Amino acid sequence: MKPFIQPSYDALFALWGEQHWWPARTRLEMMLGAILTQNTAWSNVEKAIANLRRNGALNFQTLEKSSRDQLAEWIRPAGYFNQKAGYIKAMIQTIRQDFGGSLNPLFALDTPALRKELLSWKGIGPETADSILLYAGKRPVFVVDAYTKRFLLRHGWCDQTASYDSVAKLFTGTLPADAPLFNEYHALIVRLGKEHCNTKPKCEGCPLERFLPHLH
Ligand code: SF4
Repeated sequence: MKPFIQPSYDALFALWGEQHWWPARTRLEMMLGAILTQNTAWSNVEKAIANLRRNGALNFQTLEKSSRDQLAEWIRPAGYFNQKAGYIKAMIQTIRQDFGGSLNPLFALDTPALRKELLSWKGIGPETADSILLYAGKRPVFVVDAYTKRFLLRHGWCDQTASYDSVAKLFTGTLPADAPLFNEYHALIVRLGKEHCNTKPKCEGCPLERFLPHLH
């Protein structure tokens, strides 16, 4: 039980309320977003997704038929577009070969099996896998991103060497296993990271200011 986890959530939610995240319409779109957001801002992902939508490519069949180069061109705004196009093509190929071209049997797997499966895919690390699990699969897993670790570190709530899984466990081991709650908490942390806890922290007026270690 980590005493700072719930109070931090309460402080963020009290000030900012619901964040209405994630802005995607289908499971496939959420999976694409989880890959596209690697090493880039969400605003760039939105441009890439808009390109895919404009070209009628937000569906399995078109992604399967399109060449890697064509796909890379559509997702160019998200950066690392050749690499990400390769990840998306590999994902589509795996879904075709191992799941009959449908997301239903994939998402019928239980959470540990689904996480293991996603982690075996090219270019899918823990953060991307957990984003897919939480947002597309509605599973109660906690997504740890750079913002999460940064605010925990600055408050002395984890150390630099803490692994991805151990940071996730701070949240999952304290809060009820509730996907909408984890979704909301992650969205609030993203806002915290953007508005206050960025590379240079703006602690004054931050909802978590009262939890800073030097005040205790
Ligand atoms: S900006 Fe300061 S008070 Fe806010 S979360 Fe970061 S370290 Fe904490």
